[in-house]
Amino acid sequence: MGVPTLSQYVEYKAEMFGIEVEQVSPAYTSQRCSSCGFTHENNRRSKHQFVCQKCEYELNADYNASKNIARKLLKNLHSGQKSSGGGAPCQCALPSGTLNLNGEFHASVDSTAEGGVH
Ligand SMILES: [Zn+2]
Repeated sequence: MGVPTLSQYVEYKAEMFGIEVEQVSPAYTSQRCSSCGFTHENNRRSKHQFVCQKCEYELNADYNASKNIARKLLKNLHSGQKSSGGGAPCQCALPSGTLNLNGEFHASVDSTAEGGVH
């Protein structure tokens, strides 16, 4: 059933950190390669499969979109820290795992989400 509440989730996290996040089009996000940044509608091979037309990076479509959104959110956190306290959290929790400011993604799901699904 995918992640229908993902954008709401990001907005919630953004509000929690006191930052503004421009609305990210789910379609656009799902078409962007989280590895090289190449964006094309053909990257979305099917509803659940993402295959980059440029670097051939292949993974679960929802997983890829989550990484894109997380990276965007973390970029905002990194550049404009408006949250009070100064010690802003350095990682973002996602349904599929966590992503820290170094861009390291730690999946909480099985490794099958990364490359085992075909
Ligand atoms: Zn790519």
